[in-house]
Parts: sequence; C-alpha cells; structure tokens
Amino acid sequence: MTSAISILDAITVPQSAGRAIPDAATRETIGHAPVHTLADLEEAIASARTAQPAWEALGHGERSRILHAVADDLDANAEELAVLLSREQGKPLNGPNARFEVGACAVWTRNAADTVLEPEVVFEAGTARADVHYGALGVVGAIGPWNWPMMISVWQIAPSLRMGNAVVVKPSGFTPLSVLALVEIFNRHLPDGVLTAVTGDREIGSTLAAHPDVDKIMFTGSTPTGRKIVEASANNLARLTLELGGNDAGIVLPGTNVAAHAEDLFWGCFINTGQTCAALKRLYVHDSVYDETVDALAQLARTMPMGHGLEETNVLGPLQNQNQFDIVQRLVDDARAAGARIVAGGEAAAHLGPLFYQPTVVADITDGASLVDEEQFGPAIPVIRYTDVDDAIARANASEQGLGASVWSDDPEAALAVAHRLQAGTVWINQHGALNPQVPFGGTKASGYGQEFGAAGLKAVAAPKVISR
Ligand code: NAD
Repeated sequence: MTSAISILDAITVPQSAGRAIPDAATRETIGHAPVHTLADLEEAIASARTAQPAWEALGHGERSRILHAVADDLDANAEELAVLLSREQGKPLNGPNARFEVGACAVWTRNAADTVLEPEVVFEAGTARADVHYGALGVVGAIGPWNWPMMISVWQIAPSLRMGNAVVVKPSGFTPLSVLALVEIFNRHLPDGVLTAVTGDREIGSTLAAHPDVDKIMFTGSTPTGRKIVEASANNLARLTLELGGNDAGIVLPGTNVAAHAEDLFWGCFINTGQTCAALKRLYVHDSVYDETVDALAQLARTMPMGHGLEETNVLGPLQNQNQFDIVQRLVDDARAAGARIVAGGEAAAHLGPLFYQPTVVADITDGASLVDEEQFGPAIPVIRYTDVDDAIARANASEQGLGASVWSDDPEAALAVAHRLQAGTVWINQHGALNPQVPFGGTKASGYGQEFGAAGLKAVAAPKVISR
C-alpha cells in the first residue's frame, strides 16, 4: 500500500545510512530513519544549551506567537502527517486514531501557547510579601513511546518551549519517522538549536537521561524504564515527569443501563487497538449486569472494522510491533489455558497481516490471571464478575499501577462515591481515557509522578523562584 508522503524527503536518509522503518501493517519499508550517534546527541544538547537563553529572552508573547504558527502548520499538513503516522504506528486514519492524534497535536500546541502561568503571591503581611515566579529550567530531554508518538511528543515539547526551555527529543525506535516529521514542522518556525530530535538506540535515551547538561526529563513509557530514569537522575538531579504504565480498572455498578454505555466502554478498552496507557485494562462488572455487558462488548468486538489504516472504513489496526503482539497472544493463551471463556476473538487475525490480533473479550476470569494482573497493551479485555462493590474497589486498588480508573453508573452519587475511593491519577465517570489540554493528567503509585497539561503542566517544566521582601 503506498501513498505519497512528501515530508519523508526531509526526514529520511539513504538506505546505507539509516534503519528501515516498516509499515506496521504490511511490514513493507516506509523509509530509513537516521541512526544518530552519541556524538550527535552531545551536539544536540550543546546546541540546545547555547540556543536556550535567547529563546527564553524572546518572552512569553513571542514564544506563544511562534507556537500558534506551529499549530497552524500542523493543521495545514495534517493529512500527510496522519498518513505517515497511520503507516508507521498502524493506527487507522479514522476513528479515535491517526487524524484524531494529529488534530490533538495542534490543539495541545495552541493550549500550551495560550495557558498563562502567573506569579503567585504566597505571603503578604503589612509590607512583607513573598511571591513565586516561574522561569525556564534550561534543557529538557523528551523521551517518548510508540503508541501515540506524535501527540505524546507534543505534550512534552510544547509546554517546555512555552516556558522558554530548549528541548532534545528521543523518539521510540519503533516510531521515529512520526516524531521526526513533527519536529520538522516545529523547526520551520523555531530558531536553530531550540528543538532537536535524536534517533537511535536505547543508549541515546539512557545517555540523555543521565546527561549533566539536561535539567529535566519528560518521560513517557514503561514502568521498568521509568525506574532507570529515576536512577539516572541521581547523578544530574534532573527534574522528572514520569508517565508510566497503567493497568486501569473500570467498575460497572449494579443497575447500570449497559446498552447506553456499551460503545463508550468498548472504546475505553480498545482505543488505538488497546495500545493506550490510560485504556480500560480490567473491567469489573456487577453480577446483575455481567452477561449483558460481556455480550454487548463481544458484539462490538466482532463487528468493529479492523485492517490496514489507510482504508477509510477501518477503525482498529495491528499491534505496532512483534514484541507487543507476543505479549497479547501470551496473555490470552494463558487465560484460555486457565479456563477463562473467550467470548470474542482470541486468535491472531493473520489474514489481515502478521501483527493483527482479533479484538478479544474474555469472561469468567478473575484476579491472579496474567491477563488481569499484567498490562496487556493490546486488543484483549478481561471482564471480571463481582457481587460486592467494596470488594470490586479493593480489587481495582490492589494493582501497583494507578494511572486511570473509571466508574460506570446512571446514579451520579453512587458513581462519585466510588470515584473518591479509587486510587488513580484520574477517575472518569461513564467514560475512560478522555483528556482535556486544560485538565492535569498524571499517574499515582507505579504509574509515575508529575502532571502534564494546563498550568500544572507548565509548572512541571519551569523553575520556581521565590522573591521575598
Ligand atoms: P519503553 O519504556 O520501552 O520505551 C519508552 C522510551 O524510553 C523509548 O523511547 C525507549 O527507546 C526509551 N528507553 C528505553 N530504555 C531507556 C533507558 N534506559 N533510558 C532512557 N530511555 C530509554 O516503553 P514503550 O514500550 O515505548 O511504551 C509502552 C509503555 O508506555 C506502556 O507501559 C504504556 O502504558 C506506557 N505509556 C504510558 C503513558 C502515560 O501517559 N502514562 C502513555 C503512553 C504509554
């Protein structure tokens, strides 16, 4: 499947100098990504350090104006960016997928441009006064995953630039082209050195995280890598924002009109074919509505179009890489072997391509099964029966992860009461994973620390300074 992507000319290198990046669905080569060296990384950090003071000195108004120009350019190139993203990541153009992700890049960039972080007066008594002012930290290292590569990079880059920082971006090795294309658009508007992408092996990420000239690491990825970033920060004392893995639980309360919520429940689980940090990964359903919930999800799973992303009818795609495919297959096979009921899917969809896995709904499964306890990060949802709400809350909270959670009920007070008891950075009611650029987002427990978006997100990439008089 081919579709011209002219921005590839600016971001790819000859075959002899790069690494082949496959179309996630067909495995056919899209182009070759540069393989940067540690010397390239050193140069990028040094350029960032040199360029940062002048960038900060431009002031908020001018930086905001530039970010608006970037956002407009992202919109102007949206279709081409979406086609590239769809091919490299695998997500279809339609549904909450590639076009949606590229659109979100412009929205979050504009929001970073428009959000204001005012100085805060924290003490006043007579003539005494203390206030907190927010300036740039310096150089931010942005390390991202492969599931929402453009959008998550924007979450890291746009607020950092807004606050006057320079940024060195290290994309996932699985999706470098999407991030290089994004950075190419930003750099049509930014001064030299303010933003550089360095693509390469894991060593690039670990060296960036530990570098003495890096002041902050924005990291989104797995919990094990997050722990390594924390260790690296012992040396450079880089500030950290860690958006790590999730194993989000949803609880469907008794008396819920399941039919009315079925599509939202489905997309809560299967957004980006399940490869989403804050997706529903364990669904606890009250016995009284269990069978109808399982049936409704299974019906949607059997009928939702899956296939190559550039085909306009599809809304579900492949797993992005072999490793993730193997994880999903293992977890579903384990569940089957342990006696769980596979109600929909449960097998690869090999006729579509090597990394497609059928949307899978697994019933009669409980805590202790690997599909419940581990993050599947793919199109397979375990649905767990419960009879006592307190017990469901306890099981939802038993995970070491605490990114998101959701409660589903037509009784607003009952839903709110449960929401207050769930341990998560965000608890949604009758939705899961919906994000808003003005509403802070971040995890608790092993899902990380620090918040992104809105004024809280700007503070996370700012150096606070108290002026006391
Ligand atoms: P990963 O941890 O394997 O990789 C993330 C990034 O870290 C990649 O760019 C990788 O090259 C880099 N990296 C690897 N080792 C490193 C090291 N030692 N030092 C510095 N950088 C290093 O994660 P992934 O497989 O790309 O992403 C999937 C995971 O990310 C899932 O667990 C998912 O839940 C999580 N995730 C979380 C969020 C969130 O907002 N909380 C969003 C998306 C994904």
